[in-house]
Amino acid sequence: MLHDQPDGCETPGVDPSNSSLPAPLRGLHRLPQSATHPNQLSNAEMAGLLLLSATPEDPDRQGLKATPARYAKAMTQLLSGYHTTPEAVAGSGVFSSESNGLVSVREVEFYSLCEHHMLPFWGKISVAYYPGEQIVGLSKIPRLINMYARRLQVQERLTQQVADALFGLIKPRAVVVRATAQHLCMMMRGVEKQRSETVTEAGSGLSQLSDLEISRLYAAL
Ligand SMILES: [Zn+2]
Repeated sequence: MLHDQPDGCETPGVDPSNSSLPAPLRGLHRLPQSATHPNQLSNAEMAGLLLLSATPEDPDRQGLKATPARYAKAMTQLLSGYHTTPEAVAGSGVFSSESNGLVSVREVEFYSLCEHHMLPFWGKISVAYYPGEQIVGLSKIPRLINMYARRLQVQERLTQQVADALFGLIKPRAVVVRATAQHLCMMMRGVEKQRSETVTEAGSGLSQLSDLEISRLYAAL
């Protein structure tokens, strides 16, 4: 246990076989590793164990023994959005446009992790666009949102990335995106405001539209 370590024990490094590590970390090399990203999962397990060792808890007690592995598995899923691209997500779901009417997908829920505290923020994202030559299958928009949400994020960037991805993918005349979210780092810590919502917007191609079209696009969010 960490609190049994002598004073002045160094901050643990990344080599799990290093005998100068706190006792809980020395067994890390025995933890199961991911078949696809062995080093990343092993690092995430180490992070989970380090976090436990920063508390007075005994990481060997029954309820906590598998926590680093569970933590790593959860984080690997929550941060799985780095390993794909908008083109791969859209796949064969890009079609020729048969009308120039506005398309809107509203209030798609998302869950992400803020990059400043690695704590969750979550909410809804709405997307509206005027097609050019192409449209994207409606189910692909939530998948695109998931791809960017499952990264370390700030809400502003997430909103812009969804707009840019759609713009790059199907070259619409214009696209707007609005995200409304709650941030656990504001709710559980810091200013501790439970009811505030953060709204961010991003758009591309708006200079191509008339004032009436712009107001219709935003009204569709
Ligand atoms: Zn935060």
